[in-house]
Amino acid sequence: MEERATILEAAKQLGIGIPMLCAWPEIGHNPGACRVCVSEVEGQRSLVASCVFTVGDGMVIRTNTERVRKARKMVVELLLADHPTECTSCVRSGNCELQAVAEQVGVREVRFAAEFPPKDKVIEVSSGAIVRDSRKCIHCHRCITVCEQIQTVSVLTPSWRGSDIKVGPPFNLPLNETNCVNCGQCINVCPVGALYECDDTVAVWKVLEDPAKHVVVQEAPAIRVALGEEFGMPVGSLVTGKMIAALRRLGFDKVFDTNWTADLTIMEEGSELLKRVKEGGKLPMLTSCSPGWIKFCEHFYPDLLDNISTCKSPQQMFGAMAKTYYAETAGIDPKDLVVVSVMPCTAKKFECRRPEMGDSGYQDVDYVLTTRELARMIREAGIDFVNLPDEDYDAPMGEYTGAATIFGATGGVMEAALRTAYVLVTGENLGDLNVLPVRGLDGVKEATVPVKGIGDVKVAVAHGLGNARKLLDKVQAGEGGYHFIEIMACPGGCVGGGGQPQPITDAKRTLRAQALYMDDQDVQQYRQSHENPSIQKAYETFLEKPLGHKSHKLLHTHYTRRGVELPHKK
Ligand code: SF4
Ligand code: SF4
Ligand code: SF4
Repeated sequence: MEERATILEAAKQLGIGIPMLCAWPEIGHNPGACRVCVSEVEGQRSLVASCVFTVGDGMVIRTNTERVRKARKMVVELLLADHPTECTSCVRSGNCELQAVAEQVGVREVRFAAEFPPKDKVIEVSSGAIVRDSRKCIHCHRCITVCEQIQTVSVLTPSWRGSDIKVGPPFNLPLNETNCVNCGQCINVCPVGALYECDDTVAVWKVLEDPAKHVVVQEAPAIRVALGEEFGMPVGSLVTGKMIAALRRLGFDKVFDTNWTADLTIMEEGSELLKRVKEGGKLPMLTSCSPGWIKFCEHFYPDLLDNISTCKSPQQMFGAMAKTYYAETAGIDPKDLVVVSVMPCTAKKFECRRPEMGDSGYQDVDYVLTTRELARMIREAGIDFVNLPDEDYDAPMGEYTGAATIFGATGGVMEAALRTAYVLVTGENLGDLNVLPVRGLDGVKEATVPVKGIGDVKVAVAHGLGNARKLLDKVQAGEGGYHFIEIMACPGGCVGGGGQPQPITDAKRTLRAQALYMDDQDVQQYRQSHENPSIQKAYETFLEKPLGHKSHKLLHTHYTRRGVELPHKK
């Protein structure tokens, strides 16, 4: 049967805007719960929710009558009556769907008052990555849908009824006592300031002001194709040079790049894959760059932990190299060196505090800022981002190849690894450096690459943890015959990370990824990690060789069996 359009969809096609709040059609979330989108249908006594009511031939629908306007305004006023009026200091001010909808339906006063705040609504920060401010929750359930159906982690649930309703972990547990993987995808769909990242801007401002500290910064590849959006630039703008200039103006002593360690990751991970293939190690090897994915595996697939590459993520390799290699080269005491990361990802805040991430003798990465937090700091500093002149990275940890930059999109790590692994085995370049079958937003992608001397290498890529689950269930069933699998926790990979400018849609994920592929193809001098001259130098002068003794100590890690701490649904 042909699916019929909802009133909301039909109205959109006719260019008629209907306010809405709880729906997020892209993830299949149309609960018809908030009632902001009500319309009048001739013959129906009650108003209907436009996001779920489907249209039919001859139906007469009115979306702009006095009754409709009054009802919508009343719904929003009731929501605001049970909501803290903190707009001027709220993290979502200016980018809040409740604010926007209140403006859209013409609310100028709130006629109702609730006893506020109810005593068991709390601000919860236990994970160190994600803040849950349940006082601001409007119970749209989007976070529940994304956590359960897209990520298949299922740590959020509604409890109680009516005005007592709450959304959060079962039994009101703190997030750090659940299976939450800190991916931040719930933040990305939250319409209001009820979910956001733990703030590290205050701590970073403090070290930047401290003359005794030498503060270096690294930025993940996905930042340079998203940061511009925070300043009104078109989605998919590549702003590498402006980003570097802004970071210098904020006061960072050296502006380096996580892409440098993305190239280093490929040297180590490619070598590890070949070693496993040649020596009969655990296959398929699973990538290790995405900390949300790592924690997911630790909880839900602990039997596959030996399949994960032992390579640290590029963020953590950077921290370990900055506090050893760079400190030594620059003659800086690592105790005075502070490493700040700018990441598209809330899970990186958790990752940098993992107890095993201190191989430099110090905590390797001190602070993690999301793209949104960096944008806030740039605004606070009064920097005119859009009109900044482009600047270049500092040496020695700023040089990178196109292979590193595509790490920010789903399939990018696989493509980068294939480019270099092929050369390591055959001594020749991969025929076409663009490995198109692993690009794009299909949930699970596969490719087979014939490699002289080894035979067919079968690879797969999954992004979003629900897709990862499908692939891992196949692996556990002994199916697929894969050699190498890339998994990214967030839909789209890092371009869709939980710390990126909101809101995030598939169209934005695609445009950001296209900008990374353009950086790879048209901007960078080198497109294969092993060609990076400053990585070659780091091996010659410091690390010696991939998988060598020093690499093993600084660049590799181990994982923790966590098990499932609460009931969850697949
Ligand atoms: S969530 Fe939105 S409406 Fe509520 S305080 Fe924040 S900005 Fe204001
Ligand atoms: S951070 Fe990810 S895993 Fe944790 S509650 Fe949000 S969506 Fe679920
Ligand atoms: S926390 Fe945000 S996304 Fe989740 S139900 Fe509340 S308002 Fe909706």
